[in-house]
Amino acid sequence: MLDNTHADWKSLAAGLSFRDQAFIDGKFIDAVSGKTFDSINPATGAVLTPVAECDEEDVNRAVSAGRVAFEDGRWSRMAPGDRKAVMLNLADLIRENLEEMALLDSLDMGKLVTDAATIDAPGSAHFFQWYAEAIDKVYDEVAPTGPGDLALVSRVPLGVVGAVTPWNFPLDMATWKAAAALAAGNSVVLKPAEQSPLSALRLAELAAEAGVPDGVFNVVPGFGVTAGRALGLHMDVDCLAFTGSTAIGKMFMQYSGQSNLKQVWPETGGKSPNLVFADCEDLDAAADMAAFGIFFNQGEVCSANSRLYVERSIKDAFVEKLIARAQAMQPGDPLDPASKMGAIVDEKQTQGIMRFVDEGKNTANLVTGGERVTVDGKGCFVQPTIFDDVPHDNPLARDEIFGPVLSVIPFDTEEQAVTMANDSIYGLAASVWTDNLSRACRVSDKLMAGTVSVNTVDALSAMTPFGGMKQSGFGRDLSLHSLEKYTALKTTWIKYKA
Ligand code: NAD
Ligand code: MN
Repeated sequence: MLDNTHADWKSLAAGLSFRDQAFIDGKFIDAVSGKTFDSINPATGAVLTPVAECDEEDVNRAVSAGRVAFEDGRWSRMAPGDRKAVMLNLADLIRENLEEMALLDSLDMGKLVTDAATIDAPGSAHFFQWYAEAIDKVYDEVAPTGPGDLALVSRVPLGVVGAVTPWNFPLDMATWKAAAALAAGNSVVLKPAEQSPLSALRLAELAAEAGVPDGVFNVVPGFGVTAGRALGLHMDVDCLAFTGSTAIGKMFMQYSGQSNLKQVWPETGGKSPNLVFADCEDLDAAADMAAFGIFFNQGEVCSANSRLYVERSIKDAFVEKLIARAQAMQPGDPLDPASKMGAIVDEKQTQGIMRFVDEGKNTANLVTGGERVTVDGKGCFVQPTIFDDVPHDNPLARDEIFGPVLSVIPFDTEEQAVTMANDSIYGLAASVWTDNLSRACRVSDKLMAGTVSVNTVDALSAMTPFGGMKQSGFGRDLSLHSLEKYTALKTTWIKYKA
């Protein structure tokens, strides 16, 4: 374990080697076309490594490898206790390689290495362990048919699961899909986001080392319009688990209809509201968490609390608290443990965020931040930014910006707050701050969101389902419910002489 100094992380990063090929049927191989794309570090602009650019042919190979493995039962029919042992090994291996896994995500997409080392990488190990432990504890059903008939209702794996994931939590998004799909006995073909493929490739290698058989866990790095689309349209993929934007989630539903009616589980965008009532006693805690809720991971969080509704009587005082917190969170080198915010994932995302910010300067009240900056003269960084008195119909209050930009909107009544909070195409998460128990329950009950956090933000655990309502999609990751996505109900009816 290193001492967590800037120098330590920099020297560890300098000595890192990258897995840069596709992982198919237990082996690292080049793309059939021989093509590569660059994996870039957004904090410096440096190319980390060229990575195999998979296309339809590579996806075909990975899916056939997954199919062969599924059919011969090397994983799908392995005794539950043995499958569990392999996945527990994987959890241990992630812990043994924690700094490396953290660095891969930090270098590839700009998040703070200390966050990656304390949240993302340990989370991945924990989720693999959690699903491993579930494998021999989930029971099936016997229907109440009566004597002479025995009807078993069991959950069976689907076959080959395609997973297409985003770049904001590369290792954890890959894990949320793969851990549950593998625990259920499926083969998996994962296409990580092109901005951040490195941790998924190392994860596949660790899975093989843990004992996951060849062909069971495959990773095909590449672009969405080629590799992602090929998975979505594949005639032999049984289920497609997607996390990403709403627009692409809709495309996967179409791919399914155009191909083999595969199950599609979209977990998509958000514009999550945070409601702060004047009867919240600890406004400092509320301000700490409101800042965390939008500036953590540079605001690149699907459930980011990007709309802040504050009761008018406390609004100005609360915004003052937020400004102080935002100003203390200026971006810095993601490898420096003293930094409070990292880099934006790439140039395109940075420009997209700045378009919202620059337009917002004409239509709302910028109270802090609002500039793109560099660190050591380089990189994609945006200041923590707050707009006050944002009109409810302003793009700042309606569109998913996916960056460190908070929109503050005052309200006068509880009813008005709930109405504005629900007036969104999204419904992923919401937060409520109040010390009035009845209000907490009443408001939570009315908020249309997959997760409502009361007196905290972004409550999340392996034990509770995560996913959205409305156009935030209907897939659910985490908890035992996630296993339902990766299994089919099968009835086996047996006649016997009673
Ligand atoms: P994105 O939708 O652009 O990309 C997500 C994945 O889809 C990537 O792997 C990409 O290569 C692939 N893809 C892109 N175009 C495709 C196409 N035409 N066909 C097939 N695949 C395609 O999203 P992003 O910019 O990577 O991530 C940000 C988005 O993800 C935000 O909207 C955010 O809210 C969402 N997100 C949601 C959750 C959740 O659990 N609900 C979690 C994290 C991120
Ligand atoms: Mn990158």
